[in-house]
Amino acid sequence: MAEQGTALGSNELMELENKHGAHNYHPLPVVLDRGEGVYVWDVEGKRYYDFLSAYSAVNQGHCHPRIIETLKEQAEKITLTSRAFYNSKLGEYDKYITELFGFDKVLPMNTGAEAVETAIKICRKWAQETKGYPEATTKIIVAENNFHGRTTTIISFSNDEEARRGFGPYTPGFIKIPYDDIGALEAALEDEHVAGFLVEPIQGEAGVVTPADDYLRRTRDLCKSKGVLFIADEIQTGIARTGSLLAVCGNCSCEHKCERQEATYVKPDMLILGKALSGGAYPVSAVLADDEVMRVIKPGTHGSTFGGNPLGVSVAMTALDVVNEEHLAQNARRLGELFRSEMNKYIEESHIVKLVRGRGLLNAIVINDSPDSDTAWNICLRLRDHGLLAKPTHGNIIRFAPPLVMTEEQLLDCVSIIKRTLNEFE
Ligand SMILES: *Cc1c(COP(=O)(O)O)cnc(C)c1O
Repeated sequence: MAEQGTALGSNELMELENKHGAHNYHPLPVVLDRGEGVYVWDVEGKRYYDFLSAYSAVNQGHCHPRIIETLKEQAEKITLTSRAFYNSKLGEYDKYITELFGFDKVLPMNTGAEAVETAIKICRKWAQETKGYPEATTKIIVAENNFHGRTTTIISFSNDEEARRGFGPYTPGFIKIPYDDIGALEAALEDEHVAGFLVEPIQGEAGVVTPADDYLRRTRDLCKSKGVLFIADEIQTGIARTGSLLAVCGNCSCEHKCERQEATYVKPDMLILGKALSGGAYPVSAVLADDEVMRVIKPGTHGSTFGGNPLGVSVAMTALDVVNEEHLAQNARRLGELFRSEMNKYIEESHIVKLVRGRGLLNAIVINDSPDSDTAWNICLRLRDHGLLAKPTHGNIIRFAPPLVMTEEQLLDCVSIIKRTLNEFE
């Protein structure tokens, strides 16, 4: 029997993972044992501010009491029925999430990558059934430096060599264009067998790369004029992270999608959600679309044993409730502005930090050193020593994405930890 609860220290626990687990990650050396709100504690009891939020999956804060209460309540009732039968929670969830985001239908999955795969399948089938594209030549446009997950099809259109090399043969049917480049999109759309454009409204893993203000609107308009699907992967940017319910909501920080916001809201033809959809308590992802698109999905065409299970969808409903009731979009917007303005003050005098960028509480600083240097990694180790956890993305970029339940006082405390740490590297 596994000896759970025996009191091993951090070093022994890291050794266990390294010895018996596949080395598919390079974790910062810290072993977390407990979390609450914006804080996590290691096994020795040291407390840290969490500035990664499990890649933005715990926007609602660690172990949010309402989400955990729902999890416990539903876990004691029924957890999994499979979709061979109806369950008493899924219909309620379908109604709730489609009304909140303004789509006719939702297709529930579990992980982000699965939802992206689902969107790719729907897009291809839609183009073949409604536009008569031949199966062999149907294409989807994607952006360079994208991150959409780790499946064989998804890594086929990644240009991260570490993620790709040695995993071929690759899935065909994708055209890669530079991100934030309307001209390149226009040119790629000339191909008569393009079915859609899959894109992140802000490229999170690439280093929080924010496009021009009108990029998403012009993208949507171009896709519309060509009759192809605009597919937004909001797995990381969605659920209030960037200061609005969705990044495609633009400058609107209302909590609900609403028709009145057409001026700023760039509605995608397909919306992909995951991560914070469950507040980090359970893997829940979703693809949302209107009937014109989703009707291509019929019994037998797609599925998942766990997708739409009563435990996951109950947790997701509470997780979305929390975002609305605790005004997390507004808080992310306000604290994000404060964070960037504080960091910009520091950067004026700094040699080690080149710039800060981002929206809401999805931000990154670019370290003034080559992407091959280990400066960003060393800064993250020092931040850890000072009680704040963040992780480099792509060499010389450090992402700062705390839970959205942070207070202004806590944020200013964090800013002073970050400034003090950076100062040691000047
Ligand atoms: C995390 C992420 C994914 C993949 O989600 P998983 O749950 O890890 O499969 C896809 N797209 C984006 C934008 C992400 O940030």
